[in-house]
Amino acid sequence: MSKGTVTRAFVVGHPIAHSRSPLIHGHWLAEHGIAGSYERIDVAPEAFPDFVSGLPGSGFAGGNVTIPHKEAACRLADALSPRAAKIGAVNTLVVGADGRILGDNTDAPGFIAHLDQSLGADWPRATGGTALVLGAGGAARAVVVGLAERGVARILVANRTPARAEALAALEPAQARAIAWEDLARWLPETGLLVNTTALGMAGQPPLDLDIAGLPGQAAVADIVYVPLETPLLAAARARGLAAVDGLGMLLHQAVPGFAAWFGVRPRVSEALRARLVADIAPR
Ligand code: NAP
Repeated sequence: MSKGTVTRAFVVGHPIAHSRSPLIHGHWLAEHGIAGSYERIDVAPEAFPDFVSGLPGSGFAGGNVTIPHKEAACRLADALSPRAAKIGAVNTLVVGADGRILGDNTDAPGFIAHLDQSLGADWPRATGGTALVLGAGGAARAVVVGLAERGVARILVANRTPARAEALAALEPAQARAIAWEDLARWLPETGLLVNTTALGMAGQPPLDLDIAGLPGQAAVADIVYVPLETPLLAAARARGLAAVDGLGMLLHQAVPGFAAWFGVRPRVSEALRARLVADIAPR
């Protein structure tokens, strides 16, 4: 970045007022003394193709993409990272010096980075090599691809709509397979890492109705829902003495690669940043 220029980045979605990404990137901009901006932009689906095609020359170095534009961004980017192509969704856009727009998916490495930070780098072995993923939506695709990249030997996928679990497991045929939602209790004793990627447990949604008594004693439980921070599933895991990994860390870590690409500094997910987000999420 040359002296005197202001690098701009954005988060685009519809609606967008709820996004906590400006809090994260604003924290890092201040921490590193960067004269940059990170703006919320509300773009309706029908206007999204024009928004993307207008990015070169707009002054934006890139930005984050959120609901409902992640799949459209995947189609509209000039080039995709292999991970974004596999997941079929883009959450990070980078405008190159040549004006070409690269689409990436940082949800997958964000989820894994938080697991590494929370459980230690040895977790794939220590938890026994089998992960059970609940849900098969957009976030589940990133989670399954991330787990497969991290070398988890067996990934079981269960979803209310079985066909979506089958389609997701087919993304990683060597490691993933679909199982029936009705059979969850039977698979719990073989599960070292249980991950909830469904919306269940989120504020305004019913809790996930699953008795985790069958999980082994060394199992870890992760929930990617982060409002509330302590979901009923995580509370049940803690009550059993199991390691519990919340969804906020994924949100924080997925932001790192974008900030690095746009502003030229790789930021840190610090306790101070986490505390700001926790305060924002806490019911007022
Ligand atoms: P999505 O694509 O709409 O998928 C929703 C998933 O939840 C589907 O598997 C759906 O099953 C399942 N589901 C919804 N209601 C259900 C119910 N009553 N019973 C059983 N299953 C149900 O949503 P998404 O984008 O993947 O997001 C899912 C959750 O992850 C949201 O809470 C979101 O906030 C959170 N998230 C967190 C992060 C983070 O950084 N921590 C990132 C992305 C998303 P069907 O296929 O049967 O409909």
